[in-house]
Amino acid sequence: MSVAAADLAGDTGYAHAQGCAEPVSMTVARHIACSGRIQRVTSGENGRIVRIGTEERVFNRHQRRAIALRDGGCIIPGGGVPAGWCEIHHVTEHAHGGATHTDNGVLLCWYHHRFLDRIGWRIRMNQGVPEVMAPVWFDASMRWRAVTTSPIRLRKKVQRT
Ligand SMILES: [Zn+2]
Repeated sequence: MSVAAADLAGDTGYAHAQGCAEPVSMTVARHIACSGRIQRVTSGENGRIVRIGTEERVFNRHQRRAIALRDGGCIIPGGGVPAGWCEIHHVTEHAHGGATHTDNGVLLCWYHHRFLDRIGWRIRMNQGVPEVMAPVWFDASMRWRAVTTSPIRLRKKVQRT
């Protein structure tokens, strides 16, 4: 499948799947890109190959285990969805240059992963630790809070206070 980098990042335009005469929409392209490895070939304006990158878009099981240990479960408070049922979300989207690295991956349940933008929770990484800001209807203070349901990290918190 081929797609211009700007189109993939901007959700505009069309992609071309190999062996398929008709262009496919960017939504379809993203689903294909999401489901496995992608290789990024950067071409210049004149068609010259500028860079070939092999990138893993999918977190491997070692990264997954480490993130599960740090986050415990879905990091959006109140859900209580355990790590085993969670997906790993790229805090900075892969299409926007976000790395498939533990510092850029957090646990989200299926629901929060799909509808994160729509429900208004915001996520950022602060020195490798995820923080969330609640939507106004949930908490009007608009403050960033570190979140985890990891038993190990919660125990440390208790010991500190
Ligand atoms: Zn959730």
